[in-house]
Amino acid sequence: MRVIETFDIYRFYHNEEEETLALRGVNFQVESGEIVAVMGPSGSGKSTMLACLSGLDEPDGGYVEVLGRRITRRAEAERAAIRSAEIGIVRQSENLFNHLSVEDNIRLQMQLGRKVDERRLLDLLDMVHLRHRRQALPSQISGGESARAALAVALANNPKILLADEPTSEVDAETERQILDLFARHKAQGGAAVITTHSEALAAHADRIIRLVDGRVVTHA
Ligand code: ADP
Ligand code: ADP
Repeated sequence: MRVIETFDIYRFYHNEEEETLALRGVNFQVESGEIVAVMGPSGSGKSTMLACLSGLDEPDGGYVEVLGRRITRRAEAERAAIRSAEIGIVRQSENLFNHLSVEDNIRLQMQLGRKVDERRLLDLLDMVHLRHRRQALPSQISGGESARAALAVALANNPKILLADEPTSEVDAETERQILDLFARHKAQGGAAVITTHSEALAAHADRIIRLVDGRVVTHA
């Protein structure tokens, strides 16, 4: 089943002096159970593309379908509803609310989705090896623990699609391995993932690698 499809998406950024073409006609598809790594130099459009897939950003041209429904050019409330129910998002840093404990961050995400499931909350905490740190605030846990907590938040509503922007850029090798295990588990349950990364180790675990250069897809390996 096709879970994501982009149709010729373009994204321009305008400043006073210059115009940046961040995406220049990007077309690709993701099927359920597939892990796709997006690689490419810094500034090639990876983060912009991921934001367009989640509906956090709007392309200036083209459109995106998520689970067969258009997510682009909708009211923000509608995009947010699709996002909360179907998509888990891992961003580089701002994934956790600083005033909420690890477990309350996960609970909040569950509330935004459908319902708070205390049983699943404990399973998630075990899965990311953070049960013993569940009452800690984000400021009280390490970088690797934060990365795992962010992933637990993304997986809170058991989304069919996981979108992760460089999820292992700031973690040690052991945490990277744990995060790879979590992606494998998500895939085994039929989930799909699109992951931007500079890590060859992570890309080696993907089913497919898409390479972006200057806002264009240059290879579909
Ligand atoms: P990557 O994730 O591959 O590093 P980005 O998607 O962050 O690439 O950026 C693609 C291009 O768009 C870059 O040239 C970047 O400078 C530009 N860009 C990204 N976000 C903005 C923004 N908010 N305003 C202006 N230019 C931006
Ligand atoms: P929905 O009924 O899912 O709310 P629309 O009625 O707006 O969405 O669009 C129906 C279909 O038309 C979309 O699923 C897509 O295949 C196609 N579509 C949407 N936007 C565009 C567009 N900008 N250009 C071409 N086709 C589009």
